[in-house]
Amino acid sequence: MSNNTPFSALGLDQTLLQALAEASYQKPTTIQVKAIPMALTGRDLMASAQTGTGKTASFTLPVLQRLSQMRASQAIRALVLVPTRELAIQVLESFQTYGAHTSLKTTAVYGGVDVEKQLQILQAGADVLIATPGRLLDMLNRRHINLDGLRVLVLDEADRMLDLGFRDDIARIMSSLPSKRQNLLFSATFNKEIKQLAHDFMRHPVKVEVANPNSAANTVNQSFYPVDQADKPEILSYLIHGGRWPKALVFVRTKKAANKVADLLVEDGINAQAIHSDKNQYQRIRILEDFKDNYFDVLVATDVAARGLDIEQLPLVINYDLPKVPHDYVHRIGRTGRAGQKGRAISLVNPEEKKWLVTIGQMIKKSLIIEPLPYFEDGETRVADIQAPPQRRKKKTRPARKKRQDSI
Ligand code: AMP
Repeated sequence: MSNNTPFSALGLDQTLLQALAEASYQKPTTIQVKAIPMALTGRDLMASAQTGTGKTASFTLPVLQRLSQMRASQAIRALVLVPTRELAIQVLESFQTYGAHTSLKTTAVYGGVDVEKQLQILQAGADVLIATPGRLLDMLNRRHINLDGLRVLVLDEADRMLDLGFRDDIARIMSSLPSKRQNLLFSATFNKEIKQLAHDFMRHPVKVEVANPNSAANTVNQSFYPVDQADKPEILSYLIHGGRWPKALVFVRTKKAANKVADLLVEDGINAQAIHSDKNQYQRIRILEDFKDNYFDVLVATDVAARGLDIEQLPLVINYDLPKVPHDYVHRIGRTGRAGQKGRAISLVNPEEKKWLVTIGQMIKKSLIIEPLPYFEDGETRVADIQAPPQRRKKKTRPARKKRQDSI
């Protein structure tokens, strides 16, 4: 099928097509065109797609459709395993959006929040369960949850799951699932470990690949500037102010650095906040929501935020510190330039970090060149390669916050 294929040609039900129209999706992305018809057949599927290419809908839509066509049941029939709490919440939102006109119920369980509340919601019944491995195992061990009726298993961001050391947890979860089921594995990258994992638990999977799975999204314009470590705070605010970026996500290596950099930006008149694993789950959800809703402009994050974060209209990612692991670079910059939009990624490279550029370049198959810093005058750039960023928006003032409605 070509990339001009409409959603209506993928074999999806009217209820799902209606939800897609309401989400204002014009046409399916390449991974959706390739994966959805395959997944609808009930076969095992192994799909790799660059981050931000619409992979969540590639499994959410077929899972919703297949479950709608099965006989109604009290059991959890689909399980989606995800590496992080943030991703669990986002996948839950996708199921709720695309499944708006179905009668299917989806819920999510993950660590860091009250287990009792999650159990109460589960007892009310769920067709689809989204879970992080740790919390799910905990519930399985205490026999709080029964997956005997499971028909579909999805492993989302499987590569990240392995990076985070969930291999054994995944194996234990698999051992409590019925063996007759459909398996869908999604991963931004396909490495040896992922292939081994697929070999261990899938039956003759159909393989779907889009472009080079290890290459950075090609809608992202990438620059590398030479900066001494001590000058990074000053250069960071210079770039954000000078480029008049309305919104940016800044990645740093450590929690301490995240707090420090956010404080320095605030001192410089930039409305910034930090997110990292020392913040509790409620704080993290709140910070992400506020960033998405434009209550502040710059989010300074450790890699905890690198995966699964889906922020509409995020024009800029800055690597304040270059990641040592090339995969992390791909996932960080994949937070911008999503679903075909243009994005910009800037990396500040100190002399020590230069050596990592080589391995990143090898992975994304590009030669990465360090350029001189751009020169701004009165907020206008004189360097042709900086895209004209959108005009600064008027900042929102926060209305009284409604009580969260969702079930988690
Ligand atoms: P994902 O790669 O699943 O994280 O999706 C990235 C972003 O693309 C999300 O904001 C989705 O809502 C959006 N998206 C997914 N599929 C489409 C589509 N066919 N058309 C437009 N946007 C889409």
